[in-house]
Amino acid sequence: MPNPPASAQTDATLDPADWDAFRALSHRMVDDSIDFLRALRDRPAWVPLPGEVRAALSEEGVPHAAQGEAAVYDEFLARVLPYTNGSRSPRFFGWVQGNGTPYGMMADMLASGMNAHMAGFNDAPRLVEERVIAWLAELMGLPAGSGGLLMSGGTMANYLGLAVARHARAGYDVRLDGTSGGPRLMLYASAEVHSWAQKCLELLGMGSASLRKVPVDDAFRVNVDAMRALIHADRAAGLRPICVIGTAGTVNSGATDDLEALADLAAAEQLWFHVDGAFGALARLSPALAPLARGIERADSLALDLHKWGFLPFEIACVLVRDAEAQRAAFSLTPSYLRDEGRGVIAGGLTFAERGPELTRGFKALKVWMSFKAHGVDAIGAIVEQNVMQARAFAERIAQVPGIELCAPVALNIAVWRWVADGFTEEQHDALNRELLLRIQESGLAVPSGSQVRGRYVIRTCITNHRTRWADLERFADGIAPLAHAIEQEMRAAR
Ligand SMILES: *Cc1c(COP(=O)(O)O)cnc(C)c1O
Repeated sequence: MPNPPASAQTDATLDPADWDAFRALSHRMVDDSIDFLRALRDRPAWVPLPGEVRAALSEEGVPHAAQGEAAVYDEFLARVLPYTNGSRSPRFFGWVQGNGTPYGMMADMLASGMNAHMAGFNDAPRLVEERVIAWLAELMGLPAGSGGLLMSGGTMANYLGLAVARHARAGYDVRLDGTSGGPRLMLYASAEVHSWAQKCLELLGMGSASLRKVPVDDAFRVNVDAMRALIHADRAAGLRPICVIGTAGTVNSGATDDLEALADLAAAEQLWFHVDGAFGALARLSPALAPLARGIERADSLALDLHKWGFLPFEIACVLVRDAEAQRAAFSLTPSYLRDEGRGVIAGGLTFAERGPELTRGFKALKVWMSFKAHGVDAIGAIVEQNVMQARAFAERIAQVPGIELCAPVALNIAVWRWVADGFTEEQHDALNRELLLRIQESGLAVPSGSQVRGRYVIRTCITNHRTRWADLERFADGIAPLAHAIEQEMRAAR
């Protein structure tokens, strides 16, 4: 045998040159992360990016040469760690986001260290993900043996549910013919459905015109009779209705559709029943709140996030599919180099790759498995319930403040409100509240978000936050009026 060339005999690697130094640096990383999390309550809810940090992060070219592990870590501490959107804070109430947990952080580190390939090999990580999916199916009331898959977020979990629905109900082979194999496929959801629905229909090739947005009632729940009428009209017009979408916890106001009635409608019309339970599904973890999501257990597919009301670090969500075979049928495709030999590393087949579009996937399941076991699922349910009680109490509290008006019932964990000033037009109210929201955020007081309810600009306080205590909400509530009065005066002076 000829000697290999010198370039094949170098021992370049990205493992540490000095393992002891690496260990010391790593311990410092863990200590700093824990110190930071521990002190969150004392920090502003949000810290805007300083100009020099923005410039430094925006302008650096490709780092071809080594800067050293410790030096780059110090840069992370100075320029990256402090400047997030604030979702870690106990006073973060914006959009629907979670905080992450310290234990989840460590589980993610362990998962990253294992670097398990989650297509579904004959190994322990596969069993961990299968267990997590089975636990979630049981918690949601779906039958044992249901399918499912852990996904990056609610958007992708919903996407997967609709992809299975499309394949199962199109009436022709969408894997072969795309969506040109027959009449236009139609789906029905509330006018309050989250924007994922449009994105997903575009991505699935059905087009956003395949989505019928059905009006809602005074409590922001979909009008089921109107949905039925639309289904009948579409069918009469030669279109093909395939799916009813229910929402458990709308993003605007936390409303949950009448899922029982939607399940009945889907059954009567022989349609797929998909539920977007991104955060609202987690209400099932609290015995007191579970009745709000009644009917969710009848879903053919159900999407839920664990990085919102499951409190785990981004990213983690799950889609559950009642008929596991329908899910496989929509995605299974096994090339010869991935054949199941019945023994060895690949025995049992690539379960997870057969359930969705991704082949290489990370070990997201570990943080769920470890956290559920370590904290107990009941503790998570108790905090979900705590958040709902906090939202109700916060709404009652701010309703007492002269100037604050509640704009929707507190159906779950979201209080929607605005500041009203004597003699202001609706346009002026919109402008005042937009400015109020920005000052609340920029002052570091709290991070709520804005939205529209019945065409008017409103401020949303959405509590999916295991760190929030009543004192945090009191501090926020007390801080609103001074900021609002200042804006009101400025606007009056400018008139
Ligand atoms: C957040 C949310 C989504 C999207 O989930 P991501 O995890 O952000 O992708 C979908 N539906 C509802 C109701 C949501 O609140």
